[in-house]
Amino acid sequence: MEQSQFSERLRQAMGKAHLKQADLVRMAAERGEKLGKSQLSQYVSGKVTPRREALGTLAGLLGVPAEWLAGQQDVAAAKPRVQVQVHTERERTMREFKKSSKLDHVLYDVRGPVVDEAARMEAEGERILKLNIGNPAPFGFRTPDEVVKDMRQQLTECEGYSDSRGLFSARKAIMQYSQVKGLPNVQMEHIYTGNGVSELIQLSMHALLDDGDEILIPSPDYPLWTACATLAGGHPVHYLCDEQADWYPDIADMESKISDRTKALVIINPNNPTGAVYPREALEQIVEVARRHQLMIFSDEIYDRLCMDGVEHVSIASLAPDLPCVTFSGLSKSHMIAGYRIGWMVLSGNIRCMNDFLLGVNMLSNMRLCSNVPAQSIVQTALGGYQSVEKYVRPGGRVCDQRDFVYRALNEIDGITAVKPKAAFYIFPKIDVKKFNIHDDEQFALDLLHEKKILVTRGGGFNWEQPDHFRVVYLPRMEVLAECMDDLADFLSTYHQD
Ligand code: PLP
Repeated sequence: MEQSQFSERLRQAMGKAHLKQADLVRMAAERGEKLGKSQLSQYVSGKVTPRREALGTLAGLLGVPAEWLAGQQDVAAAKPRVQVQVHTERERTMREFKKSSKLDHVLYDVRGPVVDEAARMEAEGERILKLNIGNPAPFGFRTPDEVVKDMRQQLTECEGYSDSRGLFSARKAIMQYSQVKGLPNVQMEHIYTGNGVSELIQLSMHALLDDGDEILIPSPDYPLWTACATLAGGHPVHYLCDEQADWYPDIADMESKISDRTKALVIINPNNPTGAVYPREALEQIVEVARRHQLMIFSDEIYDRLCMDGVEHVSIASLAPDLPCVTFSGLSKSHMIAGYRIGWMVLSGNIRCMNDFLLGVNMLSNMRLCSNVPAQSIVQTALGGYQSVEKYVRPGGRVCDQRDFVYRALNEIDGITAVKPKAAFYIFPKIDVKKFNIHDDEQFALDLLHEKKILVTRGGGFNWEQPDHFRVVYLPRMEVLAECMDDLADFLSTYHQD
């Protein structure tokens, strides 16, 4: 099916039936048929053509023959039929409920349109290799037995709400972990547990930002930071991380983006999507910038226990006892329990200047009552004693070996270069856009998905402006990665965007 002609016929039929995209999505849902919003918008824009099942759904909704829509009939011979719709009186008079306009500029492509397309393909029986999300469990990374055993043991004691900040035992363990990492003057009442770090990113952005307040966020970033700052009414301003300098933050760029509305800066260290770990000197420079411009520091350190090559992780808060710092971490990645939902944030350093922010955090924390109590109950077990993650990240361990393999394999592909990650399980390769004529990274991800059934996230999904990067999650086992890298090399050997 030729894409542009298909989209023309689709738009023609929609015009004749006086139906907008939102109408079709709603009508499909009412009929119990699958038709996603982004899926439809890709059909309308001519980016993709539907498979048989979706084609049938569209034809049925529009009252046109599927053959005509697919371009298999003479256009003149098959005029769209008149739409016959049965609406009850109540349906006709009911107003439309639109999503909040606050979401208009919120981007979260880690689960975006390309993922919708992958879901649609899966529903049609295709097998997709998902390298788009850092979810260790489906790739055979098991939760330590002791963690599961201890949660089971405590389950009956976790039936009620806990203190809104979290259980004493969990916060005590987090406090001790923070002390080991050198965070200054950490108090129990300044530690908050959350349903993953995700909840606390959202909570802290809402507690801090007034409409129009600016916050510095890295580019590329873990996009939840930009999304939550935007949703809170703030204005995320992106500073560059420099690929030529192992993806460390470009301090000059960071400082040049500060205005009199800038309230805070965010670092993600170790970094998702680049796998960079910032050395002490780089962190000291960032602290200097924050000090000069009186900024709060937010540091997302969820991968701090997944460092490789003997690299030491330094918490930026340990270098800034005079500044207001909020440090985030959790067990999703280090203990392979992303599904249990447990993370935390620790306020440290200059608490006095954060007193009012603290009131906001308390209010929002109280409003959500508490985080998942069974998951809090295993924080002490998880943070103490033997750390099973260490066996994955040392040489010979799965994460380390898979990193080495993917790094080598990607750099062997003509037109791809990648900086070696030092932590986590992501790599952010660069594509030679001239060689492949790439101008649209979403199209690149869609083409790879359609041709090789491999799902990656486009660079733009991480607030990276150029269409020249994508992120690979290297969690699958070596044999799977090997096949995947062969497929990618094969795909790129002929790929050229129109
Ligand atoms: N921060 C970063 C940098 C991440 O990569 C992720 C998840 O991928 C999160 C936070 C969210 O973690 P959680 O599962 O604790 O919500």
